[in-house]
Amino acid sequence: MQTGTIVAIATAVVPQQGSVGIVRLSGDDAMKIARQIFVIPGHQQWESHRILYGYVRHPVSGETIDEALLLVMLAPRSYTREDVVEIHSHGGIILVQQILQLCVEYGAKVAEPGEFTLRAFLNGRIDLTQAESISDLVGALSPAAAQTAIAGLQGKLRQPIEQLRSQALDLLAEIEARIDFEEDLPPLDLPDVKAKLAALATEIGQIVKTADRGKLLRSGLKVAILGRPNVGKSSLLNAWSRSDRAIVTPLPGTTRDVVESQLIVGGIPVQVLDTAGIRDTTDVVEQIGVARSRAAAQAADLVLLTIDAQAGWTQVEAEIYAQIEGITTIVVANKIDLVPTLPKLDLPAGIITVVQTAAAIDLGIDRLEAAILAIVAGGKLNAANIEIAINQRQAAALIRAQTALQQVLTTIDHQLPLDFWTIDLREAIRALGEVTGEEVTESVLDRIFSRFCIGK
Ligand code: GDP
Repeated sequence: MQTGTIVAIATAVVPQQGSVGIVRLSGDDAMKIARQIFVIPGHQQWESHRILYGYVRHPVSGETIDEALLLVMLAPRSYTREDVVEIHSHGGIILVQQILQLCVEYGAKVAEPGEFTLRAFLNGRIDLTQAESISDLVGALSPAAAQTAIAGLQGKLRQPIEQLRSQALDLLAEIEARIDFEEDLPPLDLPDVKAKLAALATEIGQIVKTADRGKLLRSGLKVAILGRPNVGKSSLLNAWSRSDRAIVTPLPGTTRDVVESQLIVGGIPVQVLDTAGIRDTTDVVEQIGVARSRAAAQAADLVLLTIDAQAGWTQVEAEIYAQIEGITTIVVANKIDLVPTLPKLDLPAGIITVVQTAAAIDLGIDRLEAAILAIVAGGKLNAANIEIAINQRQAAALIRAQTALQQVLTTIDHQLPLDFWTIDLREAIRALGEVTGEEVTESVLDRIFSRFCIGK
């Protein structure tokens, strides 16, 4: 996969949008191709890490495709550690595609998704955790997610894992020495070895704990606002969107009559599905919105079942809840300003959280957010090492490493021979190496990098 010169459009391509488009080349022929299709007037030199000004021109027809800037980054001082050339042209889908085609005509191959980053990994510039952080960074939906990705890119996960692996390798060496040269060495300090193994397992366990936060940061949370007409669902979403913690991007709903908004709650990207859109219907079932509620709730991780504080929990709410039972539900008692105190609610056993709001006067949104975070995240968001948030792949490998280390301890307790200890210790080392990519198969790499966007 790593041979040849690759080319891709590195910027997002949307017709009629984007004032600058970047086409990126990487590989041995990057400069050769660039020199054929790019003309630099005047006294400029084809030097590394310099911006050149000129024209993208078809070498045969002489047709000028664009006036552009060109950036040369010769190996190893580049993203991939290969020769990299970037052509910064005007934006727009047609133009950048013409430049891409021209590069292909002159010998480049269109890059696979993630192939630039794969090359950076294979050439040793970054490890696998850093490569994955790059993908996370591009896909980040909240500032907190981006911050965690940057930390990963800076090696905040790589370093502790490498350290743990190196400690495990030291232990392995110590044990193996006893297998090979038992007579020449003092006996193993058994309590010390056991303490070290246990400490390794504990430290790995601490890192595994960050997986829940990682999942929330990466995938975000889908929340559906349900309830019968007029209880204040739209007002609630409006008040929530107005709160200064929210960044709102209204998107057309993927389901008919469901409006989706993107908010950020406690650093977690939250997609709110609002079913408030429909009300002009005479159909009783439709009025209650049971069918709609079910559809929206099925896509949600959490339901905000909104009720009118004056009316309390009625048969209508019971019917809606019957359709969504099993999905975590918070009851939002809205219009609390209209009652002196919230009447006693006869709630089903599955609902334990009730939040009081008065959406029309922006009251109770903080409480709502706190309740959401308490339910979905518990203590997970404040995991010991806030900068780390591992993904599912890393978690799986780390759990394997932890289990293997515990197995070594069991083997020691059962007084099995030293050879047996090393089997599981090696497995732990291998699993740690999978996280950073020191020990990883091609099929795993394919799986990881195929999820990258094109041009990264
Ligand atoms: P939806 O049909 O559930 O989306 O309800 P709306 O958000 O459209 O609200 C229905 C009516 O209730 C509107 O007239 C709102 O101004 C009013 N309303 C919404 N929230 C509150 C509240 O907290 N207090 C009071 N007094 N009125 C509210």
